[in-house]
Amino acid sequence: MKKTIFTILLAFSFSTIWGQIAESKLKISHLTGNFYIYTTYNTYEGSKTPANGMYLLTNSGAVLFDTPWDTTQFKPLIDSIKLKHGKSLILCFATHWHSDRTEGLTYYKQQGVKTYTTLLTDEWSKKNNKKRAEFLIKNDTTFNVGGYSFELYYPGEGHTADNIIVWFNKEKILYGGCLIKGAEAENLGYLGDANVSEYENTLIKVQKKCPNAKFIIVSHHNWNNVNALKHSIKLARKLKVGYKKNRLKNDNYK
Ligand SMILES: [Zn+2]
Repeated sequence: MKKTIFTILLAFSFSTIWGQIAESKLKISHLTGNFYIYTTYNTYEGSKTPANGMYLLTNSGAVLFDTPWDTTQFKPLIDSIKLKHGKSLILCFATHWHSDRTEGLTYYKQQGVKTYTTLLTDEWSKKNNKKRAEFLIKNDTTFNVGGYSFELYYPGEGHTADNIIVWFNKEKILYGGCLIKGAEAENLGYLGDANVSEYENTLIKVQKKCPNAKFIIVSHHNWNNVNALKHSIKLARKLKVGYKKNRLKNDNYK
């Protein structure tokens, strides 16, 4: 009898531990209506860093905006969408060439999902040996899928040369990807592939395109603060001023 209780307790504690591990690798939160934010994690500069993506449930199936950063979560994400909502994933968009956006493109294509990036993203992905989409968009494009409409918009160079945003005009959702940082961000994050002098102009173009956004979804911070874009513009302005000063200083040494 004692042994049975012990076994049950052991089984229970294991399932709890595994449950927690599974939960901590993939987090899904409701945004509004049929929009959901999912988060996976990876290590960046030695610390666990979240990466947010989004999915939308439509009458035609689920649509994914950016793939998980954690490569172990491609299948769990597709399975969770099926289990939670009874929807199959039909479309997937990646908003720039970095791995935290594109890593799952090949996997999802193999699962019969139509994968998309812009032609510009594809050129950068090819150059940098990243995963590539099956279908390429040449210009800003509006998609109409299962009762929803959204535009893929390229505002110019910022976080990377190819970063795009997705604008849901009816729902006033601005999906900003890595171009926009959270309202609490101290800086603009990884700038290794950024255009420091153009970043601010690019963000201002986003602001003009999506003037009355109710939700602004960012990749690596809290996504529930609508001040994210304004704050990012401030950070980008500071960055540009610093860059110009530095260039002036360097020119003086020539
Ligand atoms: Zn990123």
